[in-house]
Amino acid sequence: MLYYSTNKKAPLANFKEATINGQPADSGLYFPQTIPLLPKNFLENIKHISREEIAFKIIQPYVDNTIDESTLQQIVSETINFNFPLTRINEQVFSLELFHGPTLAFKDVGARFMSRCMGHFVKDNGKHLTVLVATSGDTGGAVANGFFDVEGVNVVILYPSKKVSSVQEAQLTSPGKNITAIEIDGSFDDCQRLVKLAFADSQLKEKMFLTSANSINVARWLPQQFYYFFAYRQWNNENHPPVISVPSGNFGNISAGLLAYASGLPAKHFIAACNANDAVPRFFQSQAFEAREAVATISNAMDVGNPSNFIRMMEIFKHRFDHLKNVVSSISISDEETIATIKQVFEEENYLLDPHGAVAYAALHIYLQQHKEQTGIVLETAHPIKFYNVIEPVIKQSVEIPDKIKAILNIDKKSILMKPEYKYLKEYLNT
Ligand SMILES: *Cc1c(COP(=O)(O)O)cnc(C)c1O
Repeated sequence: MLYYSTNKKAPLANFKEATINGQPADSGLYFPQTIPLLPKNFLENIKHISREEIAFKIIQPYVDNTIDESTLQQIVSETINFNFPLTRINEQVFSLELFHGPTLAFKDVGARFMSRCMGHFVKDNGKHLTVLVATSGDTGGAVANGFFDVEGVNVVILYPSKKVSSVQEAQLTSPGKNITAIEIDGSFDDCQRLVKLAFADSQLKEKMFLTSANSINVARWLPQQFYYFFAYRQWNNENHPPVISVPSGNFGNISAGLLAYASGLPAKHFIAACNANDAVPRFFQSQAFEAREAVATISNAMDVGNPSNFIRMMEIFKHRFDHLKNVVSSISISDEETIATIKQVFEEENYLLDPHGAVAYAALHIYLQQHKEQTGIVLETAHPIKFYNVIEPVIKQSVEIPDKIKAILNIDKKSILMKPEYKYLKEYLNT
C-alpha cells in the first residue's frame, strides 16, 4: 500500500515513511492509493471474530509489509486492551463508549497505535525522533501517555493556555521524562499553525528528525476505523444499520469512519456533529469551504476553525459533493443546546454525557426527528469527569473522579509558557 499527498506534489510513501514523515513535504495529507474492500463473510461473521482479529484485519493492508505480522498483532492487541461497550441510552440511541482507555479519551487508540509503530520504526533506524503535537485538549494527554518512556522518542506538546480543562492539563503536564508541555498564550489554531511552520522549516528539519502525532498522521488516523467495526460487532439489528453521529473537530475520527464505510462497514448515515465551530456545516449549506478563527466552547476538543482532515473526507468521496451528501450530514450545536442535552439525557435517561458526546447526541436527535424509523449510535469520545467543571453545575451533583485521574491531579504542573510566535518555538527546538 502506498500513500499519495492530497496536494499531489510530493513523492508516494509507504506506511513506514508516511508515519515517520507525518505530513508530506508539499503540506498535503497522506491518503491511501486504494481503499481495501472487506470480504462479505467477514462482515457477516463479525460477531464471532475477536476484536484483536478484527483490528488486525482492518489495519494490515494499510501497514502492509512495513511491519511483520507478529509484531503488528502485538501492537494491535496492546492498542485495544480495554473495553469499547455499546450502551443503550433509549430505544433509538446507543452510546459507543470510547473513554475506557488510560487517559479516558478516544484518542488513546490512535496514540497507542502510533507510538508503538514509531517505537518499532525507530528501533530499525537507530535514530532519535522528536514528535511535535498541537492539542486542543485530549490529543496531548493521549499522546503523552502513549509515548511516555518510549525509547528514542522525545515528545513536545503545544496546548492553548487556559483553554483546556484542568484534568486535560494535568494529563499533559504531569508525565515529564521524554514528554515536554508548551503552554501557548493563544488558541488551538495558533498551536497548529506553529507546528505546521516547524514542519515546513527545512533548516530545522536538517538539524533534527521531526514528526507529528496529530490526527494528520496516518498511524493515528487509520486505527480509528476500529471503533466503527467494534460498534457494528455489538449492533443487534443487521437489517437496519445505524446512523452514526461523530463529535467532530479536526475531522480525523469521522473521516476514519467514512473510510471504514468505503471498505464495506454497514451504516445508514453519518453525522458530523460540530459545536459553534461550523466551517463544515456551512460547507454543506454553501458547498464553499471557508476556514474561520476558532471560537471557544464547552466542547473544547472540537474548537477547530480549519479542520485538517476535511480534505480526507472529500478525498474519500472523490470530491463529489453529490455523493458525500448522500452519506453525511453536518449539524452545528450551540453551547446552550449542549447543556440542555446533558441535563435532559441525565434526568430522563439516567445517562451522563460529556459535552462532546452531548453535541453528537443533540445532532443525532435532530436527524432522527426527520427519520423516525431509524436508530443511531453516538460516539462518546471522552469520560464526563474530564469536564466536571461543565457537567457538575448542570446536573447539580458531583461526578466521582476515577483513581487514575486522582493520582495525576496532585502532581506539580511542568510546562513552558510561550507567546504564539514561531521564533520562540524554533529557539526552543534548536537548543
Ligand atoms: C479530539 C476530540 C474530538 C474531535 O475529534 P476529531 O477527530 O478531531 O474530529 C471529539 N471529542 C473529544 C473528546 C476529543 O478529544
